[in-house]
Amino acid sequence: MAEKVVIIGSGPAGWSAAIYAARASLSPLLFEGTVKPEMIPLGQLAYTTEVENYPGFPFGNIHGFVQSAVDKDRHWNLPDPPDHKKDGQYHYAVQGTELMELMKQQALNFDTRVVEDDIVDIDVTSRPYKVIPAGGEPIETHAIIIATGARANYLGLPSEEEYKNKGVSACAVCDGALPTFHAKPLAVVGAGDSAVEEATYLANLKSAVKVHMIVRRDEMRASKIMQQRAFDNPKIEVHWNQVVDEVLGDGNLVTGLRLKSTVDDSTSELAVGGMFVAIGHTPNTSFLGGKVAMNDKGYIQWTLPFRTNTSVEGVFAAGDVADDYYRQAITSAGTGCMAALDVERYLADKGIE
Ligand SMILES: Cc1cc2nc3c(=O)[nH]c(=O)nc-3n(C[C@H](O)[C@H](O)[C@H](O)COP(=O)(O)OP(=O)(O)OC[C@H]3O[C@@H](n4cnc5c(N)ncnc54)[C@H](O)[C@@H]3O)c2cc1C
Repeated sequence: MAEKVVIIGSGPAGWSAAIYAARASLSPLLFEGTVKPEMIPLGQLAYTTEVENYPGFPFGNIHGFVQSAVDKDRHWNLPDPPDHKKDGQYHYAVQGTELMELMKQQALNFDTRVVEDDIVDIDVTSRPYKVIPAGGEPIETHAIIIATGARANYLGLPSEEEYKNKGVSACAVCDGALPTFHAKPLAVVGAGDSAVEEATYLANLKSAVKVHMIVRRDEMRASKIMQQRAFDNPKIEVHWNQVVDEVLGDGNLVTGLRLKSTVDDSTSELAVGGMFVAIGHTPNTSFLGGKVAMNDKGYIQWTLPFRTNTSVEGVFAAGDVADDYYRQAITSAGTGCMAALDVERYLADKGIE
């Protein structure tokens, strides 16, 4: 018998969709994405430490709560708690992996079935549709929720990798206000609209000292109005014709960047306490082979306002895979919820029980 709904992806969008679908008795089957190297089981938040902006998780004894809520056989995956205590108890904001394990637990509590595999293709030529796992037989399903997220693009330097979560980030809105970056000069690498947005966000923080924009050419790709916003901000300084040659650090945190001129290859050092890479994201949509309409950047297009419908009836999209604008855990969770409700109504309309 065909599944009612298959959910592809194990980030905030996927788990939120699963919680809603499971509680609506749709018995969802969720594929986590665990096989190919570019997969991120539990989604992008698994790459980060404390998440200070997810509502419902103020600083507190998160460790105790997580230990009590998450099944013991998954405790191995929980990170050590940060060493912040108050009155002898842990006192910190939920860490990315903890938050994701909690979401997964909530979905499991309502009997979501979880498969540790990737989906490598879908067949939407006839109903029921099929999803094709990397390591198994095709699965028939009446509805599909695509929640496969997007990956931040990085420069690819080994030193950048070494300092991820120690001063290297790909999200100013997520990380800019963290203590690591407090009252330090910072750098933003990139020249598009989102790079200017990141730089402006950082420059407008109360603790902002200086934001250096590192731009490869002698002009920016950002729209004129966005560029002007950077030029007008006294805390933003643009470094033209420069690329990052090396991220410098003291072993614990970023302390600077070695820049290289794209004009004459000369190098210079810039003292910064953080580097924000803003050179775009890659949505995880290649496995769809263009069977669902996408925009020119490869993001799935929502086809109705305030709905998660795609160009294919019965296929819905949630989270960063369809959103290159907000890209936050809470917005992904929100559209995950919407996708499950959209599926529920779609199946009811079709008389599928
Ligand atoms: C370093 C970092 C820090 C961040 N900090 C914050 C923060 O503090 N606050 C905040 O709100 N946001 C933060 N974000 C952004 C946030 O993580 C994302 O907006 C959010 O995770 C997107 O959720 P999603 O469910 O849409 O996709 P993702 O989290 O990207 O999850 C996608 C999932 O789909 C799976 N997948 C992909 N392809 C397939 C396939 N073919 N088959 C099966 N599964 C597949 C992947 O393995 C993954 O599990 C941060 C991002 C990064 C990178």
